[in-house]
Amino acid sequence: MSRFSLKGRTALVTGGARGCGLAFAEGLAEAGAHVAIFDIIDPVEAFFDIEKTYGVKTCHYKVDVSSLESLEEGFEAFKKDFGGSLDICVPCAGVNKNVGFLDTSLEDFERLMSVNVRGVYYTAQLAAKAMIANKTTHGSIILVASIASYMAIRSQMSSAYCGTKGAVRAMCPAIAAELVKYGIRVNSISPGYVRTEMTAPFPHLLESWKDEIMNGRIAMPEDIRGGCIFLASDASFYMTGQDLCIDGGVTKW
Ligand code: NAD
Repeated sequence: MSRFSLKGRTALVTGGARGCGLAFAEGLAEAGAHVAIFDIIDPVEAFFDIEKTYGVKTCHYKVDVSSLESLEEGFEAFKKDFGGSLDICVPCAGVNKNVGFLDTSLEDFERLMSVNVRGVYYTAQLAAKAMIANKTTHGSIILVASIASYMAIRSQMSSAYCGTKGAVRAMCPAIAAELVKYGIRVNSISPGYVRTEMTAPFPHLLESWKDEIMNGRIAMPEDIRGGCIFLASDASFYMTGQDLCIDGGVTKW
């Protein structure tokens, strides 16, 4: 069997109803994994094609990752449907707000922190507990950070967002170090500029960002899904605590 195969494994993706999360869910299914998603919205049509296209089981749950109670309920429901089996978790749910540093309200700041940092942290914690309880031998947690954890986003006012993504990238090696004894690997992905609902309100910025990208092209969500398959699979067996930038070269140019 290919080292990239995820056949028979079970994956959970938060924020999987659309955008990057949906692309990750599709990629994991393409490699053979059964896939569950947690989101506050109903999945877009493409999610419902995954099951018949790839012959895997899919489920979606209404979960707000910023609430520990909602997350715990989601994991309980997931456990009932998938018999406790969990091999891969991708905490991808995230929000952004284009607001200046001097104008960022406490409400804006706490919303960003509660979804992007607390939501990622406790999703990873509950996933790790499920993996440990189930004695998985292939545990892989893939946090979703951003190039915003490396650099300011040109023409966008997103200091609090950048802070949340820096927190995700920084927590990755520390969580990895604690989970290594359970055979669970923890890595992060930092996507570059991706065309999704998150970036859709800024078409003029998407145009201007093209100049910063080595290959001159804004990514589509499917452009970043290969990295998720790699990190979820045994092909990356020797990799933990790392960040994988999938950014068309933005951070190296
Ligand atoms: P998106 O807005 O299309 O998708 C985000 C998903 O998260 C949505 O389905 C949304 O409903 C869900 N979500 C939001 N709050 C939630 C909550 N409290 N509980 C559960 N689900 C919630 O955006 P996207 O671009 O696909 O972003 C996905 C991830 O990728 C985010 O973490 C984002 O920061 C990161 N990212 C995006 C880009 C980009 O250019 N689009 C770049 C780097 C990183």
